[in-house]
Amino acid sequence: MSTAHPKAALRLESIERRYAQGEGTLEILRGANFTVMEGQSVALVAPSGTGKSTLLHIAGLLEHQDAGEVFIGDTGTAGLSDAERTRIRRVDVGFVYQFHHLLPEFSAQENVMLPQMIRGLPRREAAQRAKELLSYLGLGKRLEHRPGELSGGEQQRVAIARAVANAPRVLLADEPTGNLDPHTADHVFHALSQLVEATGLAAVIATHNLDLADRMHRRVTLREGQVVELA
Ligand code: ADP
Ligand code: MG
Repeated sequence: MSTAHPKAALRLESIERRYAQGEGTLEILRGANFTVMEGQSVALVAPSGTGKSTLLHIAGLLEHQDAGEVFIGDTGTAGLSDAERTRIRRVDVGFVYQFHHLLPEFSAQENVMLPQMIRGLPRREAAQRAKELLSYLGLGKRLEHRPGELSGGEQQRVAIARAVANAPRVLLADEPTGNLDPHTADHVFHALSQLVEATGLAAVIATHNLDLADRMHRRVTLREGQVVELA
């Protein structure tokens, strides 16, 4: 039996990111450090324009930092090829956006199957896992529905199921409930926290909803380009 030592699922080290703006530069991240342990949920609460999406995109290997290192588990990623980054992103990272980005032509179940099949899982296994995940998120009776036939909250729950379909180490969600009414947001958030508890994945969720943030293990904000712990 192995002793459960908490391990870092995600580690950002001295991350810098700047954008050219007219004559000058916009310094968004200035040596940001941020570690999230396995099984830990963290709310990222900061005003618009402070760099939440930038931070999540860099953590999810969707965007390159200008300096610093991103570790997914023990693996440093800055020096990896695009192909290797893509592989890690597919296997170890799940991303949920504010707008669900589901494929409209496909059913809920197929949307959750796709990332698994891209990864090489046989169709039957992908279908089974998709069914289990969607049922777990309360969508067992919506498997055949297309995104357009689902409510906003249901769409986001499908997007969450899709994000965790390959059992990633890290789940990154960028204002996943920002588009929903408070009651629905609450429901989606509950589903998300349940999943974090059940799977031991690490989750970072950018949100403006302080009630929801209070239910996460930790809260952080962005201040002058750094990740700062909140009470
Ligand atoms: P948040 O998600 O907290 O609202 P973002 O990470 O989206 O903030 O953006 C942080 C800042 O960086 C904003 O001022 C935004 O305009 C700027 N920014 C983001 N992406 C780019 C880009 N690709 N090019 C130039 N500026 C950008
Ligand atoms: Mg944003």
